[in-house]
Amino acid sequence: MPIRKLLVANRGEIAVRVIRAARDLGIATVQVHSDADAEMLAVRIADEAVNIGPPQAAKSYLDTQAILKAAKDTRADAIHPGYGFLSENGSFATAVADAGLIFVGPSGDTINLMGDKAAARVQAAKAGVPTVPGSDGVISDMDEAARLAAEIGFPVMIKAAAGGGGRGIRIAENAEEFRKLAPQASSEAKAAFGDGGIYIEKVIEKARHIEVQILADGIDAIHCWERECSLQRRRQKVWEEAPSTALDPDTREKLCTSAADLARSVGYKGAGTVEYLFDDATGDFYFIEMNTRIQVEHPVTEMITGLDLVGEMIRIAAGEPLRFTQADIAARGHSIEVRLNAEDPANNFMPFPGMISGLDIPTGPGVRFDHMLYHGYGVPPFYDSLLGKLIVHGENREAALTRLGRALAELRIDGLTTTAALFEALLTADDVRSNMVHTKWLEPWLEANTDTIAKLQLTEGDTAA
Ligand code: ADP
Ligand code: ADP
Ligand code: MG
Repeated sequence: MPIRKLLVANRGEIAVRVIRAARDLGIATVQVHSDADAEMLAVRIADEAVNIGPPQAAKSYLDTQAILKAAKDTRADAIHPGYGFLSENGSFATAVADAGLIFVGPSGDTINLMGDKAAARVQAAKAGVPTVPGSDGVISDMDEAARLAAEIGFPVMIKAAAGGGGRGIRIAENAEEFRKLAPQASSEAKAAFGDGGIYIEKVIEKARHIEVQILADGIDAIHCWERECSLQRRRQKVWEEAPSTALDPDTREKLCTSAADLARSVGYKGAGTVEYLFDDATGDFYFIEMNTRIQVEHPVTEMITGLDLVGEMIRIAAGEPLRFTQADIAARGHSIEVRLNAEDPANNFMPFPGMISGLDIPTGPGVRFDHMLYHGYGVPPFYDSLLGKLIVHGENREAALTRLGRALAELRIDGLTTTAALFEALLTADDVRSNMVHTKWLEPWLEANTDTIAKLQLTEGDTAA
């Protein structure tokens, strides 16, 4: 293994996850952290830790020079970016390589190509992958864009080419709105992502979000089956599953194969996810974007395939060829993940940082909890509110749902309010039990069920107050 020491350029639960994968491969670890994160779990368990700056991400987790200096000072030979932060920043990947270090992910050029969502659509179409009807590349002329929008049919989605995390998306219901929103979306994208490029897509109504995990070594690419992430709030996933019960075997095969084909067409190297919308009514699927990094919900794929995806991406970065052929990747049973955030689901998901004064962690057969918690840990207010992910596996979806209920009943986090009660409530929803959902299902359900969630919080002692 040409990687002997890996620097983790991230925080929270994903930093812990990366350290574990490195250790399992016999690799030493360096954890960088901001002033606000000196006490985080990843710092406690890493071999070494380096402070890289103040709490503001721009001055620490997004500071390329500070991270490269930490790598040099500790003689690390590789950097894992996790998700968010610099994970999809092509310039960062290039700077890491230029410093003579291994970036655990695709090349800067591949990140730039697939990270530009408008360019990625063009690439997908070239590889024969169906895309949502929309513009070819970014919009350069507003009159032409307005004509195209009318031709596609309203409502249309205006998306930032550099967007992510559910941000930078607007919906125009008619031509007048389009004329108003498109320039706004562009200047907002410029401010938020440093790139004002926008493109348009037809709105696929009542679609499911289905995505495919891929692994590739620059020559070959394989898929590791699909995940369904249709339960979303503000276009962010809150609950994910593998496999999707919405697909018949033939559609599954076509969808998953198309993702591997796309990865192969760009000489992709590393782990990645190809995201699609799936229309139950027609059985059609449409490419929406590719995420060139490990994703939050990767554990559900690990649970059904038995793979260590983070370990595989480190091996690929170290220069190993893919260790599996497509036929080796079997899927067994059903897995569900729920995202535990330090937020109050009965109070418009208000962030709830604070100190953990008591902690019961669920374990036992088929339960995995990837988290950043320990008794006495103070959750800082500066970052994403994800505390961890509770993941279950069962022989089928019904068994996984039952097991999720059991694991949630065992979980107790004192001192914080978390999204746990939301999932207890969701487990009682008929549409969730039958998986009759789409990406717009959760928001109205939340409006109608806030009282149920609040009651559950009281009976389960899920609130800090
Ligand atoms: P996943 O499918 O892995 O959840 P997301 O798109 O939700 O993918 O992103 C994962 C994490 O990265 C989230 O914490 C999200 O807020 C963050 N993120 C992704 N893209 C961006 C971006 N362009 N700007 C800021 N944060 C981002
Ligand atoms: P991000 O880069 O922020 O993750 P995506 O393009 O992946 O953005 O879209 C995020 C979510 O927005 C999707 O999971 C889906 O719920 C919704 N969405 C995106 N494109 C469309 C579309 N064309 N029609 C309907 N919903 C969409
Ligand atoms: Mg996405």
